[in-house]
Amino acid sequence: MQPYTGLQCTQCHRFFPEEAPLGKCPKCQGLLDTLLDETALSHYSKRQLENDTRSMWKFHMFLPVKAGTIPVTAWEGGTPLRPVKSFPHLRNIRVKDETRNPTGTFKDRGASLAVTRLSQLRVRRLVLASEGNAGCSFALYSQMAGIRCHVYLPSDANNAKVELSKKLGAQVTKVKGTISDAGRHAAKVAEKTGAYNASTFVTPFRHDGKGTMALEICQQRGWESPDYIVYPVGGGVGLVGMWKMFKILYRLGWVRKRPRIIAVQPTGCAPVVDAYNKGRMEVAEWKSPNTIAKGLKIPKPVAGKWILKSLRESRGLALKVSDREIQKAMLNVAKRDGLMVEPSSAAAFAAVPQLYATGGIDTNDSVVVIATGSGLKTLEQFYRHETR
Ligand SMILES: [Zn+2]
Repeated sequence: MQPYTGLQCTQCHRFFPEEAPLGKCPKCQGLLDTLLDETALSHYSKRQLENDTRSMWKFHMFLPVKAGTIPVTAWEGGTPLRPVKSFPHLRNIRVKDETRNPTGTFKDRGASLAVTRLSQLRVRRLVLASEGNAGCSFALYSQMAGIRCHVYLPSDANNAKVELSKKLGAQVTKVKGTISDAGRHAAKVAEKTGAYNASTFVTPFRHDGKGTMALEICQQRGWESPDYIVYPVGGGVGLVGMWKMFKILYRLGWVRKRPRIIAVQPTGCAPVVDAYNKGRMEVAEWKSPNTIAKGLKIPKPVAGKWILKSLRESRGLALKVSDREIQKAMLNVAKRDGLMVEPSSAAAFAAVPQLYATGGIDTNDSVVVIATGSGLKTLEQFYRHETR
């Protein structure tokens, strides 16, 4: 039996059995989460997962799909958890290398799941706002499923991402301003045309896809959760998705502890870090965001409250890094480890020295840094560094 039962509003807590493709809560416009029947889930065992399948769909029982689902897949997930030399004095640090995904980022996990579920719900057209990476992912999976995809990007979006989205079959429109402006635009188009809005957390079908990173990390560590996860926060999909799965694994008794999550943002756009460190329940909009980490240039994440709640539950930490530190980290991991990460991803690496220096983390703690996206789509940011 497939454990997925339906959707629940995170605000008014109403339950929806989900026969139609829902976005936000039809009653209160709150964000929807997917619900799993954990009794049904407990009938699965860790042993069933001991096989060589290198795909996140190995964990289909944790995903919001019906029994017998044939996924829309390009073999996303199943990425290495590898050691790194970039921090020579730290023995217990590993990187979850998400650059190995089909379009070079962890966005593929969310897009594969969302497009699989939406095509089952007979969605024919979708729109989304993206800084670029999610656009490439949704372009790929949408054309695989025969769904029309229209991506709305902020005007400063990276060229390679724009071109790749187009080549993979999406229609692309640039919107003046930040990703929040692109998001408002996509929402208007969805309302007017009836297209499904697959933007971050407007759809409930993306975060569980990224949550499979938590399942893989625990399995790769012999069903042991690490002490810390270092995660660069933009829209917070991976943070919320992973924390949900860590909690489920703990309740199932598959792991003995849960990790603390460390949220990293650039000094030029750190609305989550500031809200968390000030003990707020809501994220306030960041005025005039400015950073080279475009995936983290999200002035007001839609799921702000949910991100803060996840961080609090995990007894997490939150810190900022400068663009200069990000650029340094980007070159450092490229040269020492052959890991080509983009600035949004390098932010997490840039935070590591600070975490040890301030005593946030001990050298014996086990730490996993999420390398969220490849730098091969953002090569011009290497050049910019070298000419300075
Ligand atoms: Zn509601």
